[in-house]
Amino acid sequence: MTIHINRMKENLDYVGNTFNSDTEGYNRLAFSKEEKDAINWLEEELKNNNISVRRDTIGNLFARIGPKDKPIYAFGSHLDTVKNGGLYDGALGVIAGLECLLQLKKFNPQTAAYELVCLVGEEGNPLGGTFGSRVIAGQVNTDDLDEDILQAAELTKELIQEASNTIENYAGFIELHIEQGTVLERNGNKTGVVTNIAGIVRNHITVIGEAGHSGTMPMEYRKDALVMASEIVQYINEEVRKLDDGTVATVGQLEVRPNAATIIPGEVEMTFEVRSDNKERLETFPEEVLSWVRNNYDVKVKPGVRKPANAMSDKIIEATEQAGITLDFPTMRMMSGANHDTNTLAPFMDTGMIFVPSIDGISHNPAEKSDWKHIENAVNIMLETLKSFDQ
Ligand SMILES: [Zn+2]
Repeated sequence: MTIHINRMKENLDYVGNTFNSDTEGYNRLAFSKEEKDAINWLEEELKNNNISVRRDTIGNLFARIGPKDKPIYAFGSHLDTVKNGGLYDGALGVIAGLECLLQLKKFNPQTAAYELVCLVGEEGNPLGGTFGSRVIAGQVNTDDLDEDILQAAELTKELIQEASNTIENYAGFIELHIEQGTVLERNGNKTGVVTNIAGIVRNHITVIGEAGHSGTMPMEYRKDALVMASEIVQYINEEVRKLDDGTVATVGQLEVRPNAATIIPGEVEMTFEVRSDNKERLETFPEEVLSWVRNNYDVKVKPGVRKPANAMSDKIIEATEQAGITLDFPTMRMMSGANHDTNTLAPFMDTGMIFVPSIDGISHNPAEKSDWKHIENAVNIMLETLKSFDQ
């Protein structure tokens, strides 16, 4: 029993080219008609193969096969994309999951049930990324949600509440995904076995200076907020490079006020993001930097997104590695610097992720690409892993 790589290619191309709202890259934004149409297509495909499908009130899809009273091993990903995104992010994990489910059905499992899961709104969106998984995990508080944003997403507080906290008692969850980095490519394009997913801590720093005329104010009297912000960016970059645990830090967004050629910047608002799979570092590093910043500059700090780091389960990691050995496809352990729905699900069940090498690490970009030989290895490892749970 091996996967039908050509059927996977056809399905992935079909989803990418059929459900697209723009000509540049692939566009199935969270909660858009294109995302809905793509999930409806998946539902049809499953039904055509006599697999029953359940949709919850926010649009998440669940398709199960196997005995009713046995442990359920779930797998899947998301079908939404970023704006002008690539063909593989999310969709590859869903199409791979569909392929595995079709193969497992033929295999007629006796001691394990299997479920394909497609979660809505994974990419960054006005309701917050990893939306589908956070709702079923009971982590979305509808009091915090704006009515206009809900309406644009064709959702209501009632629909969200009905799907809230409905997470199934899965024995495991596996997500296959492109790596979106270059670690695997630099290591002979092995298949990645994820051990940890990095957490995220974001803070919004506003640096207060003093606006003034760019021609008349002598240099020694200036309080240029952008110059001070630049010093902070430099400091963050230098300090994070001293760490030896893979922690990364980024200032990716700056707002200069008033942002005019003839005015000395009076205020700069910037994002300070730290990602790490080291739980302690994720707490201490941002605080150390912020304390230095507060001691040296006039700033206001507003906490932003916080997502915890989570470890994948040894059970899934070892089963995936064993599948690689059985099939004679090399694997390597690695951490995920990107967040995924699996990170939301990790505290509730045994989770694991399988990474496919990304060519040049390009992602969230129309040029995103993976080699089908490497995809084939990873999907076969996933299928073998899932099969190993039916003993
Ligand atoms: Zn993704």
